[in-house]
Amino acid sequence: MVPNPLRTGLLRLRGWREAAPLPKEVVIEPTTKCDLYCPTCLHRTLPSSRKDKYMSFDCFKKILDGAPALEQVTMSGLGEPLQSPEIFRMCTEAHLRGLRTKLVTNGMKVSEENAYEIAFSFDFIELSFNVATIPAIDILLSEEPSLGTGGRLSVSVLCTPENRRILPAIQSILSRKGIRCVLVPLENWWPEGGDYYQTLKEMVIQAGGGMAKRRLGRCHWPFSSAFISCEGEVTPCTARMDPSRITFGNALEMPLWAIWDSEPYRIFRKSHLSGGFNRVCQGCPAE
Ligand code: SF4
Repeated sequence: MVPNPLRTGLLRLRGWREAAPLPKEVVIEPTTKCDLYCPTCLHRTLPSSRKDKYMSFDCFKKILDGAPALEQVTMSGLGEPLQSPEIFRMCTEAHLRGLRTKLVTNGMKVSEENAYEIAFSFDFIELSFNVATIPAIDILLSEEPSLGTGGRLSVSVLCTPENRRILPAIQSILSRKGIRCVLVPLENWWPEGGDYYQTLKEMVIQAGGGMAKRRLGRCHWPFSSAFISCEGEVTPCTARMDPSRITFGNALEMPLWAIWDSEPYRIFRKSHLSGGFNRVCQGCPAE
């Protein structure tokens, strides 16, 4: 992409700078262990050295210590957060610090035994649609009926070629339950040249291709949030969660605020501002 001074000017007007204010929200990966094997998920790209890892409670605290401006922590990543044995303790710690908590889950681990803890540990719950979604919703609503109407519970449905025809039915079932349904266009997050890149590319075309909105010059991630892997590695976003591809530093070795303000992060933001771009974002549907 050719550097574009007009774009730089417009983004600066939006308040985006190389030296961005500390993030108010980050995504933290409590574990890389997952109980599903979804065909489009980047979980498949995990090297064996990163499989079934857990973030410890002390590491979680250390990350929060280095992020003084935080207002919300989202628990998500290349594993199912409810697989983490420390997940509820982490939520209590976040709440004690005055932070909101959000869970992105496949719902497989939602049960009558843990529904109370889930409903009260997370301020927001996003269920990623699959076979466990409706039972999980019913269990959570029987524990806390206001979850849906209060807007705290939502369901995201990835639009694939297979489910295209039944999307209206899914939306109708969820709306009868009073649950907000978010349709997520299928996008190709796989690294170019990787095994699944071409397969996903074809799926995206079959799913309607242009459904995904391009966000040229509108990717907010480098300016407002970050992804932190269960080993503490800070990457720019949930589209690039692989620390072997990019890391700005380890939030267990250096405070997050220092990593956020580091030279490599500033250079990365600069590439976004100018449109001069970088290899990490190349091929990302957000650009
Ligand atoms: S990889 Fe995509 S989502 Fe991530 S920072 Fe780059 S453009 Fe944004």
